[in-house]
Amino acid sequence: MEYAIGADIGGTKIQVAAVDREGCVICRHLVPTEAHLGPGQVMEKVLTGVELTLSRLPGDAGIAGIGIGSAGQIDFASGTVAFAGDQLPGWTGTSIKSRVEERFGLPAYVDNDVNVVAVAEQLYGAGRGLDSFLCVALGTGIGGAIVEAGRIVRGAQGCAGELGHVSVDFNGPRCDNCGNNGCVELYASGSGIARLGRELIAESAEPPVWRPDSREIAQAWLRGDPQAARVMDVAIRALAAAIAGYIHMCNPQAVIVGGGVSETGPSFLEALDREVRVRTSPSVRSAYRLLPAYVGNDAGVIGAAAQVWLYSDGQ
Ligand SMILES: [Zn+2]
Repeated sequence: MEYAIGADIGGTKIQVAAVDREGCVICRHLVPTEAHLGPGQVMEKVLTGVELTLSRLPGDAGIAGIGIGSAGQIDFASGTVAFAGDQLPGWTGTSIKSRVEERFGLPAYVDNDVNVVAVAEQLYGAGRGLDSFLCVALGTGIGGAIVEAGRIVRGAQGCAGELGHVSVDFNGPRCDNCGNNGCVELYASGSGIARLGRELIAESAEPPVWRPDSREIAQAWLRGDPQAARVMDVAIRALAAAIAGYIHMCNPQAVIVGGGVSETGPSFLEALDREVRVRTSPSVRSAYRLLPAYVGNDAGVIGAAAQVWLYSDGQ
């Protein structure tokens, strides 16, 4: 039996797993990132996690390679971190690929965490059989990954697909992360929905029954709470405007949405789809489908490992 090792490096946890060709996780190792302790110890945790995972596999297991997904912007060709923000302090400049290849003598592939989720969806999930789609990852922020002609679009420096920083209001509040105004992330991410919730609380005579937390607000919206509906309406229209812009630019077959409030159930995606269709011209609208992400919580580590199958087969 042949396996690939996947490692998913996030701001709060590092997960390493052995994954088979069908995308099944065989064994896993999960540790807190403790990013404040510095990039050296983050790298050490990744290397130790790979070592432990390899030691748990049967002696006759074949290892095809090691795939890594990391938060931040990654230069795929060199496997180096081009930029990582506060989530992973000091991580910028880390040569992940060369460190892993030197230590284990196996081929390694490194990409950013949303691009590897797109790989998981392409091989095992909602993107199967599709050549052209956008993956949207809702979370504290909003990430995006573009697949065109069956391949991840990386752009000049590996930074393509930053849907979160598409502006949906040029007069909107300033985005501290990029400098633009009215980025969709300010409205439809977890932190954006919480911000809208705080604004509503500040201006309401009657305080809402929910706290300014995106999942609480989404749950209250599903129960028919009118104040939560005001917040979610803004979030859904903002996200739909950004997705509609992408659809007009790239004419994709699908937009795959996962994470954050999209996990509250089909109502969110149905409302989002209705709003996207209102905002797109018939020619591009007819080609597109809005799909829920399929692979789930393990998508990061499964997609990280799946790079080995995708790229070692000659892509
Ligand atoms: Zn921005």
